[in-house]
Amino acid sequence: MEKYFLVDEWNVIEEGFKPEKNRLSESIMSLGNGYMGIRGNFTEFYSGDSLKGTYIAGVYYPDKTRVGWWKIGYPEYYAKVINAPDFTSIDVFIDGERLDLAKVNFKTFKRQLNMKEGYVDINFIIADKKGHETEIKTRRFISLSKGEIAAISYTIIPLNYDGEIELIPLINGDISNEDSNYGEKFWDEINKNVDGYYGYLTVKTKKLDFHVTVSMKYNVTINGKIANNNIYSIIKEKYVASSFKTYCKKGEIINLNKYIAITSNRYYNNDELIPKGKEIVEEAFLKGFDKLFSEHSKAWEKQWEESDIVITGDAESQQAIRFNIFHLNQTYNGKDPRLNIGPKGFTGEKYGGSTYWDTEAFCFPFYLCTHDKNVARNLLLYRYNHLEKAKENAKKLGLKGALYPMVTMNGEECHNEWEITFEEIHRNAAISYAIYNYVRYTKDESYLADYGFEVLVETSRFWESRVNYNATKDKYMILGVTGPNEYENNVNNNWYTNTMASWNLSYTMEVAKLLKEKYPEKYNNLVNKLQLKECEFEKWQDIVNKMYYPYVESLQVFEQQDGYMDKEQKLVSELSPDDLPLNQKWSWDRILRSCFIKQADVIQGLYFLNERYDIDTIKRNFDFYEPKTVHESSLSACIHSVIASQIGYHDKAYELFLRSSRLDLDNYNNDTNDGLHITSMAGTWLAITQGFGGMKVINDKLCFKPYLPSKWKAYSFKILFRDHLLKININSNNVIITQEKGSELIIKVYDKEYTILKDSTVIVEK
Ligand code: BGC
Repeated sequence: MEKYFLVDEWNVIEEGFKPEKNRLSESIMSLGNGYMGIRGNFTEFYSGDSLKGTYIAGVYYPDKTRVGWWKIGYPEYYAKVINAPDFTSIDVFIDGERLDLAKVNFKTFKRQLNMKEGYVDINFIIADKKGHETEIKTRRFISLSKGEIAAISYTIIPLNYDGEIELIPLINGDISNEDSNYGEKFWDEINKNVDGYYGYLTVKTKKLDFHVTVSMKYNVTINGKIANNNIYSIIKEKYVASSFKTYCKKGEIINLNKYIAITSNRYYNNDELIPKGKEIVEEAFLKGFDKLFSEHSKAWEKQWEESDIVITGDAESQQAIRFNIFHLNQTYNGKDPRLNIGPKGFTGEKYGGSTYWDTEAFCFPFYLCTHDKNVARNLLLYRYNHLEKAKENAKKLGLKGALYPMVTMNGEECHNEWEITFEEIHRNAAISYAIYNYVRYTKDESYLADYGFEVLVETSRFWESRVNYNATKDKYMILGVTGPNEYENNVNNNWYTNTMASWNLSYTMEVAKLLKEKYPEKYNNLVNKLQLKECEFEKWQDIVNKMYYPYVESLQVFEQQDGYMDKEQKLVSELSPDDLPLNQKWSWDRILRSCFIKQADVIQGLYFLNERYDIDTIKRNFDFYEPKTVHESSLSACIHSVIASQIGYHDKAYELFLRSSRLDLDNYNNDTNDGLHITSMAGTWLAITQGFGGMKVINDKLCFKPYLPSKWKAYSFKILFRDHLLKININSNNVIITQEKGSELIIKVYDKEYTILKDSTVIVEK
């Protein structure tokens, strides 16, 4: 674990340049707006170690997966988020020599992410081999107010010399992915041109025909005055640029503002991409950097107003939670139901930018409780719109109903490890659980009638066809699965999967009852549309009644799966540090044979269906499983932290909260170079609101059971609940809940109910 970045409540600062940390900083300083994103790469040429990254939401490449050991049911392709044309770069030549930041001496260096206003500054003074000292200051942002725009302000000052400075703002489409097979490139050129200060490049993906136009326009001032020097265009294959040259005197300030517009055929027709791109970039150019920036920072102000968590007395935690919230807001904006949340957002290539169960199981509550309800609704619609594909997926495996993919871009499964594709079927229940969560937080029951019920019925049909009736035991079982703990494959009766499957069936029946009563007409239409038969409910009820749950009588804990107790029972504390992380030190078969757990599994079930279990049961299971858990998935610490809070293990909860919240800032798992862990960031939000804040919905009421972590003086967060906006403030003496928007609401704090009116406050002494 390393503390590389300075601690500041609103900023992440890298002071002094260390080439070996460059990839880490590039990940940390990533910017995005739900529509596109960039890593915190240098603007100038840098021949040192770097992962160049520009990503456009929903633009992906279906990389082929066919291998010799092909199995029926394997997906045809693996979807990769692809590196899009680089639009941030500006090539710099000083006295005819190309500036390469890997070859200069940094006299000062500061790279800074400002989370309050959403920008990255990279400022430094360099000395080259000739002894020239040059100061460079850059600011960049990806507009939160206008999704297709990015802008860079680039200032260069020759400090101790007179000389020629050439600036070449460029668009480079000749890029590849680091993870591409055999260095394969994914883009073909379609069109390009440079006309004075304006230029564009249109490229298309080699498969799937995604067309993207990157348009740029720039201007230059010298000492604040517009410079009209001669410029010339550079056009190469998949590359356009414009060169601006000036002979300047020591101390002169040259500033170049580069405006970028990204248009793609996800939103426009192919023939509109260039004119639309031109229109957008012209508009940005006319507004100018400052105006664009002020609109962008106002949009951030609004985001923070809605979703900030304020922590007093612990700057590290404050920085961490803001860093997490910042990236969550950069990754998904909820405007387009075709988009979703990749586990790495726009910060790297790993996980292909695809959608995992991470969205529903971990990320969903953050968006649900801090954004307009349409944002969460669009996440649900994403799955609703993929229902037909999920049905095809189930059919392909010889099963009924719908099996949602474990990994997807467009509804098709695109992950080809059999133990995940075929066996991690628990994802179906997480998708149903998100519907349940949405309805209990918003009370928008019409969603169930319009969309949700269809998903619930088809997932239930899947469970019905996937269970296995054991006549001897008169029990239903689910064989050959992988639970959330991926360090066990092809197990029988994973307790979590069986529990969630049965919950899914019960919830479907509960919703059927509700719709029948409240929306009889819509319900009848749905029964017809789905060809739903009464005998299906009977069967589902029978499965719920007779589901088999492995249990260890002697310890009174749920057994993770059949046979788990046959394993040699060891604790993580008994392992040598040299064995960790297991996934980098042990062969796969050794991991599978061991009792060690990758991430919350039984504990994940206790988290989701928390109200079903008493505290002693939760505690016993936590005491048994947590010491065997290596937390080698970034999804693990947060859920364990929530449960540790609930059972009063406050130090443990705090330790796990820190691990989750500072996972990337402190590079805990030594893998932040590849990109950030967006899912864990959402988990951090859970660790505070549901863990420390003890927030739950019980019997249709929003309840809190907060405590103050010992290192903190106070903390506050906001929650949207059924059109009421509440601010919850916890200090050492009181819990203060203010209703900022909404009407009368009954809430529960600790064990007492309070009625809270609009603009009023409830103060509860602790
Ligand atoms: C976890 C999965 C998760 C995936 C993407 C894996 O390491 O085990 O549960 O869906 O990462 O975050």
